[in-house]
Amino acid sequence: MQGLFHHCILQIALDTPLNAIFDYRWHCDAGEQPQVGQLALVPFGRREVMGLIVGVAAETDVPAEKLKDALAVRSQLGPLSPEWLALAGFAADYYQRPLGEVALPGLPKNLRVLTTVALDRALKKLAKLDAPHDGTPLNMPQLNPSQQEAADAIGGAAGFKPTLLYGVTGSGKTEVYLQSCAQVLEREPDAQILILVPEINLTPQLEGNIRARFPGVMLATLHSSLSEGERMLHWLAAHQGKARIVLGTRLAILASLPNLKLIVIDEEHDPSYKQQEGLRYSARDLAVWRAWQLGIPIVLGSATPSLESWHHAQSGRYRKLELRERAVKNAVLPQVKLLDMERDKPKDGLTSHLIAAIKQRMERGEQSLLFLNRRGYAPVICCESCGWISECTRCTSFMVLHRPEHRLRCHHCSLEMRIPRHCPTCGNVDLQPLGRGTQRVEEGLQAMFPEARVLRIDADSTRKKGSAQAAFDTVHRGEVDILIGTQMVAKGHDFKKLTLVGILNPDTALFSQDYRASERLFAQLMQVAGRAGRSAQTEGGSTSEVLIQTRYPQHPLYDAVVRHDYDHFASALLEEREQAALPPYLFQALLRAEAPELATAIEFLTIARDCVEHPGITINDPIPMSMTRVHNVDRAQLLVESASRPMLQAFLREWLLTLREMKSRVKWSLEVDPLDI
Ligand SMILES: [Zn+2]
Ligand SMILES: [Zn+2]
Repeated sequence: MQGLFHHCILQIALDTPLNAIFDYRWHCDAGEQPQVGQLALVPFGRREVMGLIVGVAAETDVPAEKLKDALAVRSQLGPLSPEWLALAGFAADYYQRPLGEVALPGLPKNLRVLTTVALDRALKKLAKLDAPHDGTPLNMPQLNPSQQEAADAIGGAAGFKPTLLYGVTGSGKTEVYLQSCAQVLEREPDAQILILVPEINLTPQLEGNIRARFPGVMLATLHSSLSEGERMLHWLAAHQGKARIVLGTRLAILASLPNLKLIVIDEEHDPSYKQQEGLRYSARDLAVWRAWQLGIPIVLGSATPSLESWHHAQSGRYRKLELRERAVKNAVLPQVKLLDMERDKPKDGLTSHLIAAIKQRMERGEQSLLFLNRRGYAPVICCESCGWISECTRCTSFMVLHRPEHRLRCHHCSLEMRIPRHCPTCGNVDLQPLGRGTQRVEEGLQAMFPEARVLRIDADSTRKKGSAQAAFDTVHRGEVDILIGTQMVAKGHDFKKLTLVGILNPDTALFSQDYRASERLFAQLMQVAGRAGRSAQTEGGSTSEVLIQTRYPQHPLYDAVVRHDYDHFASALLEEREQAALPPYLFQALLRAEAPELATAIEFLTIARDCVEHPGITINDPIPMSMTRVHNVDRAQLLVESASRPMLQAFLREWLLTLREMKSRVKWSLEVDPLDI
């Protein structure tokens, strides 16, 4: 007797920190019965907000007088699939967040606004677009045997098959991805493929390649630099199954993809797959779960895999495929040499050996790249007579000198000021820059090579939208002799005339207290080194070179870089981690607290440490974070560890309930699998 019910109960997840599902009444005679996975507009407090329907029931325990009516259901939009809801549910559970806080922010903003204008407009626009469905690829280049083997293994895989594609820089991993995709698209007429890349400045090149290769399929891109209108359109194209390839950054892992058949994660070791605020998820880890849930293959590619993935490959959980040679015929790996800065004292930051090498490239009409991961002119200015240094008044850090603008700037809280005319402590007028950033190296290069075309690429030089791409295009056109840049230049780019890479000042990371620092440094060095010599050897048989300036040429990490030997380096690091009981042999979570006074944050964490029983769990003492103060807020942390992931998860669930009940005024957050400790 369905007709007797005039209403049903919608169970709705909302984007609130309250870990609850809310019940609302819906009058069924107002239209069709709503479905799980649809969005509904509901009153919440004094506001009207968009929620996600996670259940439809006949009854509720909420007393009738307290039950509110849902206002509208977004029936134009097909429901999110049960698989998508399961993914959001898993992420919420694993990262210890309310479901609504995970599911709703993952949707385009325009879907969550009160009116349907934007949605209707996007749906209309999309309906007019043909969904080309011809997966036939164009211009497939011939692969070398190991590439072919990898492409066949990935493209032909059935079921959940995680593959680690371990290939040296320039070995043609992208081509393997594309040809694996081609196999899947040709075989399955509706298949969708998700390709994740770490950063958006890598996407234009890859996007162009995909479009040229698969002109017959619709490609959607999802990343944070899209306008809201574009994002909505691309999201819907994926949600409706029209877009068969979706290319995106980490946020694309939560895209709705009803026919997902293959996931590709490029540069899987890259830390930008980890979201560092709000829901601190790892897109790579969620991708592996998503592939497992759907029973589909996933490929994780890298020249320097994360130790987690390397560990899985060693233990047989992931299949490992290797590409040991550069894909372009006659292109060989660059020669890596260490320049001892104790013997060859640098001038303007450059040793004489490096200067000579740059000069040689200039004479041959080849390009050089200098890598220095520090922007600004100098990291600090100081007074030599009294020892004053330019500290930030709001952070545990220094004010960086930016010479072109004549300003001091804190890179953590954005505090800015004019360069003082004299020392604030003793009045000395002779304030000196200390250390060297990209601007200062640029200045030195221009003085040393007045005839050279020098270009700096870093976050400061590329503030305007599109300016980064324009700068890279200048390099590609060969209109630059010497390129100087931060990590922005290290990744992905394929500069044909580049035969020299100089690495300045990488030593600081060798002695970091962060146990992941050496893994990261190695990856970064290999990646930037990999920019050199990607095309065939230049005329005259000159090979490409990578010169690393260091004070510690004996360090085993550099030794491994010189030998391009990730295998041994990774195995040695893994052994160290096992002995020291560190991830991936141990599972961690980090509770952070912030307050105007450090003591308040520490006090909160101390109470948190002692408030529950915790067998099988190690809770360390609360400590100040290494950068304690940012923007006048002090920060402290509490590290929780366990050898068992399920035990840790169970503990966190219970712990969070207790912490939420404390209703402390201290701002706190929990991160599962933290990367920075
Ligand atoms: Zn002074
Ligand atoms: Zn600051």
